[in-house]
Amino acid sequence: MAPPRDNIINDINRPREPIVSPYSNNNDPMSNVNRFKIIDSTLREGEQFANAFFTTEKKVEIALALDAVGVDYIELTSPAASEQSFNDCKTIASLGLRAKVLTHIRCHMHDARIAVQTGVDGINVVIGTSSYLREFSHGKSMEYITKTAIEVITFIKSKGLEVRFSTEDSFRSDLVDLLAIYQTIDRIGVNRVGIADTVGCANPRQVYELVKTLRSVVKCDIECHFHDDTGCAIANAYTALEAGATHIDTCVLGIGERNGIPPLGGFLARMYVGDRDYVLNNYDVKALRDVENIVAESVEITVPFNNYITGYCAFTHKAGIHAKAILNNPSTYEILRPEDFGMSRYVSIGHRLTGWNAVKSRMEQLQLNTLTDEDAKKITQKIKQLADIKALNLEEVDLLLRKYHTAKSNNSHHVILDNILTHEHLIAAVQPSANIDHSKNYFFSETIPVYSVMMSQFQKFFQRSTQCPEVLPLVTILSFALAGAGFMTFHQAHSPDVVWDHKTNAEPWQHVHQGDRVKLAAFNQKYDRPYHRSEW
Ligand SMILES: [Zn+2]
Repeated sequence: MAPPRDNIINDINRPREPIVSPYSNNNDPMSNVNRFKIIDSTLREGEQFANAFFTTEKKVEIALALDAVGVDYIELTSPAASEQSFNDCKTIASLGLRAKVLTHIRCHMHDARIAVQTGVDGINVVIGTSSYLREFSHGKSMEYITKTAIEVITFIKSKGLEVRFSTEDSFRSDLVDLLAIYQTIDRIGVNRVGIADTVGCANPRQVYELVKTLRSVVKCDIECHFHDDTGCAIANAYTALEAGATHIDTCVLGIGERNGIPPLGGFLARMYVGDRDYVLNNYDVKALRDVENIVAESVEITVPFNNYITGYCAFTHKAGIHAKAILNNPSTYEILRPEDFGMSRYVSIGHRLTGWNAVKSRMEQLQLNTLTDEDAKKITQKIKQLADIKALNLEEVDLLLRKYHTAKSNNSHHVILDNILTHEHLIAAVQPSANIDHSKNYFFSETIPVYSVMMSQFQKFFQRSTQCPEVLPLVTILSFALAGAGFMTFHQAHSPDVVWDHKTNAEPWQHVHQGDRVKLAAFNQKYDRPYHRSEW
């Protein structure tokens, strides 16, 4: 039954913009989502990742790449861990980075004395306070922990360095113990206290409650360190900031002990949605891909397909409905703007879920201007039919569009789609020997003239040979053999490879001769899209 007419009128009259959602960011004064600091721990926590082994050169390379992203702090492995770790601290502290350099030590005077000699800007001190750690790890009482912490912090401060004091496994520590020690440490002038979900057990609600409570008992900054064993690391970090935390620990690609801590890229993606201006003004998010590639290669992993921002499908749109909306207004299905991160949007069209709007958009990119909406719909049906067997890559879709376009110029487009029933039919139609019109032009403009010259030479030779009839059969066979061999060699050397220029769409077909592999390699390198390589 049709709705009452009044409702229709009301719906039309309803204001359409702005859309107000109860989930929009509010201006909670306690929240620090628009004024946080990043402590990247790839060179400390990340060194605890199963595959990690960083040479000094690699550490320097990673530190420089992190500095290019603009992280506020870079945390390094304890100089007390080994002689090389000590030297690496000194090396990185002397690089003159924009980021402050920290090192991470046990709450112990021995470690503190070593750390202050390395030239770092600050020292992150940690000790376990959970009943598990007190019983099964260091075996110290809270009184002893508090006394040592005061001694270590006072010493570090006397050297003019920044100092943070963190408990370990904070979410399984006694709340009264925790608050008591943080309050004491705050009074002696520590720069930050730290909360660490060392085992990854906390959920966002628990984080919110603990940080909010801590916020009410200390004046200093609050740093948070969340492990990702149960997939809450980024959410916990964000919630901690909402509750008043100020500093968040991250690692490139989230590497670390077991399955790591918040990935730098994923955390920045989350914060970008919270406050785009703050993120873009304080961090160079276009440099994320570089540091991820350096770390991924170094620890012998690949960047995951679904990685935040840089994963190869992070900005790929597939479903027909999504593609149509994205083409009209990318914000419909994109909360992150790929161009802000130096990435490209990609609309996947060679599959059974495709839609004709996306296909039409591709036709326009290829400047196949004689094709109509009706043509786009027919071609889309053919793509769906072929993709039911196997998805088409972009090059195959383009071939189909071009073949149809060429056929339309001689009015054979009504039948051409009927003749393409499999991928093989489509592919076979573009082999150099049975190439489309551009290769025909090429064949006539370059191959035929050379072939003609060769044949005229043979004709002269043949005429002379007739004056000596006994060698005529031999000369004839030889002439044709030579002509054939010459033609084959020439044709082989000049058959075009077909390369699509993804970047500009301006020169859709580029001919690079098989005899000119260097140029082809350079071309491929220039227009390489490493995350969409399969689309070549
Ligand atoms: Zn950790």
